[in-house]
Amino acid sequence: MWVESVVPVDKALEIVLGHTPVLPAEEVELPNALGRVLGEDVHADHDMPPFDRSAMDGYAVRSADVTQAPVVLDVTGQIRAGQWPDRALEPGQAIQIMTGAPVPPGATAVQPAEKTRALEGGRRVEMLAPVEPGAHIARQGVEVRAGDRLLERGRTIDPATMAVLASAGKRRLRVGGRPTLAMLVTGDELVEVWDTPSRGRIRNSNGYAMVAQARWAGAEARSLGIVPDQADRIAEAVRDGFRDDVLVISGGVSEGAYDLVEEVLARFDVGLLFTKVAIKPGAPLVFGRRGDKLVFGLPGNPVSAQVTFDVFVRAALLRMQGAKVVSRPRVEVELLDAVKNRSGRQAYSPARVTFEGGRLVARPVSSQGSADVVAHAQANALVILEASQLRAEAGQKVPALLLGNFLERDGSA
Ligand code: AMP
Ligand code: MG
Repeated sequence: MWVESVVPVDKALEIVLGHTPVLPAEEVELPNALGRVLGEDVHADHDMPPFDRSAMDGYAVRSADVTQAPVVLDVTGQIRAGQWPDRALEPGQAIQIMTGAPVPPGATAVQPAEKTRALEGGRRVEMLAPVEPGAHIARQGVEVRAGDRLLERGRTIDPATMAVLASAGKRRLRVGGRPTLAMLVTGDELVEVWDTPSRGRIRNSNGYAMVAQARWAGAEARSLGIVPDQADRIAEAVRDGFRDDVLVISGGVSEGAYDLVEEVLARFDVGLLFTKVAIKPGAPLVFGRRGDKLVFGLPGNPVSAQVTFDVFVRAALLRMQGAKVVSRPRVEVELLDAVKNRSGRQAYSPARVTFEGGRLVARPVSSQGSADVVAHAQANALVILEASQLRAEAGQKVPALLLGNFLERDGSA
């Protein structure tokens, strides 16, 4: 299918995801699962807590014995975490108990140590206050029951997920396969990061930004280096790049005389699915497929490159790993300054979102344009204006995508 027209963003994303294969899952050891996408549903293999558990250091008691506090009880034993009670609690008795220890049969509450006073070298104890039935006891199975589903496949494994996996005894688990990505930048003006640009030249920043974006999306990414604007040289690099699951090319996709990417991709029988998307920044945007391999031709403009990578390539990389959610979290923000959109395309404007006065507010990042990587690095969100929306005023509410650096870039959070 050849779509020559300018494709709306939603439609383009649908096309990308529709052509993105989910890679076969693989098995990893738990410590290596962080950041991967869970490839199986995880169920509880036991109740949690697995027994009636004390939530405090104190004394297991019958709350009925303590209603007339202060009262004195006989201390008949001690239970530490990891031990199992060897006797039941009888009326008039208390058993000293530690946090995490199983509550003995007969006990109906745990009295925290602070509300007690040990007497006679610990043989007896004074309860200084009454204690409600059930107080400070976490009952067996209140968190989850054996067999309950704890985690659904398709979620990204974060530190909190690691705790659940560990509790469920998942020493090994299935995770989505990791896509590999090759990054090619083209432009006669580009020099290496270690070079001082001579007249008319600039450093390659996209290569670094996009390899980093790919890695943060869970891919194994490598750089094919800087390739000059010569079809044969680009073709050579493209051939190399097709060893990976995804090839991303930055630069050379506009209408300039040296924009050769489409011509080169045709040599490799790449089926182009679109070449222009109604997105600002970044209208020229090529997506194609060669068998199971995906190719993205992104604009060379650094901000356009990062934004389009985030919206399309990141989504594809996550889908390849089996992720359910492939787009950034979308929230409503109140604009602190007006945002313009004369592009006639859906606009993704870099902004800095903070939480102020009980609401999320967005201050548009003032930028010199699509090349301004320094301004873009101030942003932690992309504010969205529809193609038909020429302007949004200060005070107006608009949708925004939160980038992964939200907390790090928000001093107030
Ligand atoms: P192009 O898409 O090749 O027409 O490039 C558009 C703009 O982005 C030009 O100003 C290029 O110099 C700039 N550009 C292209 N590639 C890169 C890169 N890898 N790093 C930084 N800027 C770039
Ligand atoms: Mg160029």
